[in-house]
Amino acid sequence: MAVASGRKAAKAKSLLYRVGRAQTGLGLFATQDIPERKLIIEYIGTRIPTKVAQEIDRRRANKYLFEIDSRWTIDGSTRLNIARYVNHSCDPNAEAESNHGRLMYRAIKPIAAGSEITLDYGEEHMELYFGAAGCLCPPCADMAKTLLAKKAAKKPVKKPVKKSAKRSAKAAR
Ligand SMILES: [Zn+2]
Repeated sequence: MAVASGRKAAKAKSLLYRVGRAQTGLGLFATQDIPERKLIIEYIGTRIPTKVAQEIDRRRANKYLFEIDSRWTIDGSTRLNIARYVNHSCDPNAEAESNHGRLMYRAIKPIAAGSEITLDYGEEHMELYFGAAGCLCPPCADMAKTLLAKKAAKKPVKKPVKKSAKRSAKAAR
């Protein structure tokens, strides 16, 4: 039922979003300016008991499970669920809210046309599905870049560069 209503809504309105290429795979992008508090898209799929979902998560078998509450979780792995393309960000511009058992993504700040729509998926999801590389969202990537740049800028100032370079070269072997 939820799947059908999502389809109908997509046909009726001019869409606020499109699927496009993001930094890591595909993502969802605003096709027009989206004001703060605007409902963007519904996360659609099959409702399964949260207990079952937790069992699946333990096996890291489905990263599209979205918990509504302690009883129900939406399995959003269906391709009809366009909201599954929304990527995680540690500085998101949308949030999920549940309304009578349905999950809606809402803008929490103005989103300019062309910007990627992002959501904070939370620590548990990141621990389960992000792997050793950790978070690769744009704010985290920027932070990593800044740290690297700072390190690079600092290096010439320090005198015992040669020694530490040797040591780290050995350690890397
Ligand atoms: Zn991040």
